[in-house]
Order: sequence, then C-alpha cells, then structure tokens
Amino acid sequence: MSAGGWAVGAGLGAVLGVAAVLLHERSLRRALAQQQAGMIAAVETIGDKVLADGTVVAGLPRQRAGASAAVPELETVGARSGEGQLEHAVTGLLVAARSSFESTVLQELVSQADPLHQATHDPLTGLLNREALMTTAAEVVSLASKHHPLSVLMIDLDRFKDVNDSLGHGIGDRLLAQVGPRLRTALRPGDTIARLGGDEFAVLLPTAGEDGAQLVAERLSEALETPFEVDGMDLHVEASIGIAVSHRPSRPSTHTVEGLLREAEIAMYRAKGEGAGVVVFEPEHDSGHGRSRLELSAELRRAITQWQLVLHYQPVVDVVQGRLAGVEALVRWEHPDRGLLPPAMFLPLAEQTGLIIPLSKLVLAAAVEQAATWFRAGYPVQIAVNLSPRWLQHADVPEIVSSVLSLHDVPPELLRLEITESAVLAQPQQALPLLNRLREMGIGLSLDDFGTGYSSMTHLRHLPVDELKVDRGFVDAMTTSPQDAVIVRAAIELGHNLGMDVVAEGIENADTLAEIVSAGCSLAQGYYFARPLPPDDLLIWANERFPGFGVDQPASRHS
Ligand code: C2E
Ligand code: MG
Ligand code: MG
Repeated sequence: MSAGGWAVGAGLGAVLGVAAVLLHERSLRRALAQQQAGMIAAVETIGDKVLADGTVVAGLPRQRAGASAAVPELETVGARSGEGQLEHAVTGLLVAARSSFESTVLQELVSQADPLHQATHDPLTGLLNREALMTTAAEVVSLASKHHPLSVLMIDLDRFKDVNDSLGHGIGDRLLAQVGPRLRTALRPGDTIARLGGDEFAVLLPTAGEDGAQLVAERLSEALETPFEVDGMDLHVEASIGIAVSHRPSRPSTHTVEGLLREAEIAMYRAKGEGAGVVVFEPEHDSGHGRSRLELSAELRRAITQWQLVLHYQPVVDVVQGRLAGVEALVRWEHPDRGLLPPAMFLPLAEQTGLIIPLSKLVLAAAVEQAATWFRAGYPVQIAVNLSPRWLQHADVPEIVSSVLSLHDVPPELLRLEITESAVLAQPQQALPLLNRLREMGIGLSLDDFGTGYSSMTHLRHLPVDELKVDRGFVDAMTTSPQDAVIVRAAIELGHNLGMDVVAEGIENADTLAEIVSAGCSLAQGYYFARPLPPDDLLIWANERFPGFGVDQPASRHS
C-alpha cells in the first residue's frame, strides 16, 4: 500500500491474502475525513462498510482480502490441511491509523500479534509462545474428562521487576533465557510449557489431576533453587505457581483453555499475595470482578489500536514571571465501560507486556500533534512527554522523535522529554548517548520524580538534563515535615548550582508554594494551579489565568 495508507496488517495480507480489518466507526470517520483532506492516501476495509447514517464505505473485494467474511477482531484465520492441521494461521487485528507514522507503529503491533511472524516459539527462551500454547491446549482440553483431567500451571517469578530495575533489562532477559529451559527440565515429554510474556510461564499437564499437578509444581520450584549465573553474578530466583484442574470430583469444572488459564492466574496471584509458593484454584478465590492479566492485556492492546487513549495537559507555571512555562502531557485511558482510567491502572501492565512501546510512540505523536495545533494557533506551548524506561532502552528514540517533529513541523524547543533516574541508571551505556543526541537536537530533558530514585550527585553531574522535577512526595510534605523541607531546599539549590531549572511538583496549596518560592524555586506544577486538563480546557485556563497569553508570551522554560 502506498505511503500514508491505511494500516492493514502489514505482511499478513501480502503473504496470505488475509488482512486485518478496520471496523471502529469513529476511527473510520476520522480516516475518511483525513483522506478527503489529503492527509492519508487510502482507507481500506474488507468488504463494504455501512456506517450508522447510511454512508457506504467501499471496501476491498473479498477475494482480494482472502477472507470469506469480514474478519472479526483478533480472529485467527487459517487454512486447514487434509489432516485437519492448522496451516497459515494469521491473526487479524482492528487497526485505526491516522497517519503514516501511526500506521507504521500499528503495523508493528499487528505483526507482534501474528503467530506466523513470531512462528510458534518465544525467541528468548526457545519455549512455545502464548499462541502456540493456546492452539495445543485447545486440542488437549477437548479430550479431557472426569476420568482424565488435565491441569494448567501458571508460573510467575517473584520480584523479577527488581532484577530489571536494578540490573537492567539486558540482564533480565538473559536470566529469563536460562529460566525457561531450566523449567523445561522439570517436566515430562508429553507436557507443554510456554512463555506467556514477561516473567510469566504456563505449563499444560495433559493427564495430571490435582495431586500430579502439585508434584510438578514442587519439581518446578526445586528446579529454580540452584542460582542462575548471569554476567558473573549469581541470581536467585523464586516463583509463585497457580494450579487449575479441569475436572475435579464434586466441584464445578472448567472446560476451556481461557477459563483454566484464568483460574491458574487467579491462584498464582493468591500464591504471590500469601507468599505461599503454590496455590490450587478454588472457586471462592474468584471474586468475579478481577480480570486476568491475559484479558486485560488483550483489552489494552485494543485500546491502543483503537486509540482509546487521551492526553490531558497539566500546566507548569513560572510563578515569578507570572506565565505558563509549559505543560506536561499525561495519558489516560478512556475505557468504554469503566470511564477515564489513570495511568497507574494500565501503565504497569503496558510495561510488563511490552505494549508500552507502541503506546509511547503514539503518545509522543499525539502530544507533538497537539503542540503543532497550538503552535499554529499562535500558542507556542512547550509540551513535556514522559519517556517510558523501557523505551529508553531502544536506540530508535531520537530517530522517531525527529521524524514525528518533522511530520508535524514542530520546532524541537516545543518538546521536552521527562525521564527518571532509575531508567537511565539501569543501562547508562545505552541511555546516555541517546539522551545526548536528543539534547543535541534541541529537545529539553527533565529528570522526573527527583529524590525518589537512588540519586547520586556524581551521576547527576553527568546526566545531560536541563531540569529537575522534585517529586511531589517531598514537596507536599514540606509544610509539615522539617526534614522534607530540608531535602526540597537542598534539591532546589543543587539543581540551580548545576545550571538546571527546578520544578516543584505537587503544589496543592499556597503555603507550599510560598515555601518553594522562598527556597528560590520559581517553576511549579500542581493541583493548586490546575489538574491535568483536556487540551481545550487547558487553553481556556491559560487564557484566563494569563491574559494575553500567546504569541508574545511563548510558553517555554527559557524565554
Ligand atoms: P509524573 O510524570 O510524575 O506526573 C505527575 C503526576 O502527578 C500526574 O499523575 C499528576 O496528575 C499528578 N499530580 C500533579 N499535581 C499534583 C498535585 O498537586 N497533587 C497530587 N496528589 N498529584 C498531582 P498521573 O497523571 O496519574 O500520572 C502518574 C504517572 O504516570 C506520571 O507521573 C508518569 O510517571 C506516568 N505517566 C503519565 N502519562 C504517561 C505517559 O504518557 N507515558 C509514560 N511513560 N508515563 C506516563
Ligand atoms: Mg512526569
Ligand atoms: Mg513527576
């Protein structure tokens, strides 16, 4: 498809004649408008789509799309061989791209969800991947019965996040690469083990009931007892294991793969919560409210492809000069059923599942697009975007930042990126050159949540940042805790002495504001000024608060 075209499951269509579909009416309407405006080249759907108001969008002929009917979202479409074996399975996703940049990101995402692309194995551990497990399990589950139950074990490493955070993802990955095969050794030939993602593994025991499953769980735990040697370090690993059994005497039983995985996961979380090592699922564990991580991550993936995410903007105020110094873009999930969800409710999952990468790229693109809109309207507002620690480990950040800026024709001074110390210190060799490149491109860099990480003066001196954001935990406590007040004052002075701007975060009242101003800090952010606001409200707020705000008062740190 030509550049700027609609994202139709890259590679999938080309190889197999099956394409991802686009069904979301809102996205479709937006795409059509953009096509009319010449912003994108083509809008393609499989088969004609009739919108609510009767508008007909002519789609690809079905033969070309290769599917006999419109492919439902995340549906696996395949051809079966004579023996009934699944060949050429491809997974279609709903995709809704607004620009060629988004289209590229979404295509990456689609190809990640494509079992053909990833084949059936997890490249890191060599074990089966999730899709392959689901296919195998579906067959096995259909054969299970009261006399021949099967069990599913869900295994999640304990405190694996600490390994990633303190030693870096490189070490974390090398550890996982050893853990997978080690777990395999505890199993018998007919058993199936897969890595579901992150530090999560699942085991399928096709002929084991509860006792057999307990035994295997013990063997799996034992297999992890010998420390793993990674880069000359001995790493100790423990795991929490949840067990679900398909047919148990005198208990309601579950007969689907999804159901068993969900139960095993609930039991696994219980094991984690209780520090119990192994827990067998019981119906009373299931509150019915909590959704499994598998379900949630599928939902989040959908939220990204259908762009249910919105950005709100919180002002950073220069209280001495009395002007808007910039805004921080903060992502929210406009959940169709649960309303507006704060980042704390979905970013950790995004980080664990890798969805944070496409999410971050789209957040960046949306923020830069907003900067462009304001800029063209005579409001050169600098927008700060939080850079995910995980994305910081990919060398492509500067390249993508620069392409997004040029796509929207936004000067680099209008973008600021916020990073955290621990993200940089996890892999300094990788992060530092990347940050230096961003600095050279003219992009402002802020060190976020300053004071919460393992700050070190030595490191700070070498970090190419031009701004410190003192964490709201300390700032908020200033008026009540003399110790915290000392820390904030010291941080402000330290930042200024290193030639940096300092922003006090979390200003909720006039007293705290007075404290930080008396400590020499003029940049402040917090509910006292405004909560994060939708873009239109932010502009109204800024115009009311700073009359004449606009062209003659550029909103960026140094002006
Ligand atoms: P952060 O970067 O430190 O953002 C500031 C957080 O403090 C925001 O929470 C903001 O709403 C909140 N806040 C600001 N002023 C006050 C105040 O006066 N009182 C209180 N109690 N809170 C205040 P939010 O929006 O929930 O975001 C939480 C964190 O999620 C952010 O912390 C940031 O680390 C992360 N985050 C948000 N959006 C993104 C994103 O697009 N990408 C990435 N990678 N992370 C994001
Ligand atoms: Mg921030
Ligand atoms: Mg912060």
